[in-house]
Amino acid sequence: MNKSQTILKKIESLFPDAKSELGNWKTPFQFLICIILSAQTTDKKVNTVTSKLFDKYPTSKKLSMANISDIEELIAGVNYFKSKAKYLVETAQTLETNFGGVVPDTVDELIRLKGVGIKTANVFLNDLYKKNEGIGADTHVIRVAQRMGLTKHSDPKKVALDLQKLYPQEVWHRVNSTFVLYGRYVCKARMNESRCILKEYCSYCKDK
Ligand code: SF4
Repeated sequence: MNKSQTILKKIESLFPDAKSELGNWKTPFQFLICIILSAQTTDKKVNTVTSKLFDKYPTSKKLSMANISDIEELIAGVNYFKSKAKYLVETAQTLETNFGGVVPDTVDELIRLKGVGIKTANVFLNDLYKKNEGIGADTHVIRVAQRMGLTKHSDPKKVALDLQKLYPQEVWHRVNSTFVLYGRYVCKARMNESRCILKEYCSYCKDK
């Protein structure tokens, strides 16, 4: 087993049921809304606003007709709530107009929605469908990949490409979900070294 495979195996042993920590969603549409809201915001914070948001606007049809000021009020706890309120309504309108109210399941189509970039699209598709079109490199994935010496880049697209070269496509969704949790709970910006099971592979600590 090579280094990248060993790292994945060890992280998976710590998070055997790795899945998104975004809650309150019942449909692909609601999950997509959660992911858009989670940019630059913790999942915990997103979870505090989505219950009321989905009670009032459970579908793209309802959200497409919402007043942006009402959405701002409902999601005021999350960072950049003003821009995100606009994105949510525009996304719902695009879904209604161009996709018949059904959230698409390809990166190319998803990135036509406001507030959805390649990273968001891949996280959505990997978490929901294990789609493996690509790896969504968020801040946690980037930090873990860098510290493990799996990439020298910090640009999310370049980090994703490096990881996609290292891992077979059928495990990309697993890399995505487990690296996020390892970065969130162990290999944090201020790391929790006592829980670290990867010290021997860690370029970051060796270089210190
Ligand atoms: S030793 Fe620290 S930086 Fe290195 S992998 Fe472990 S938690 Fe991350």
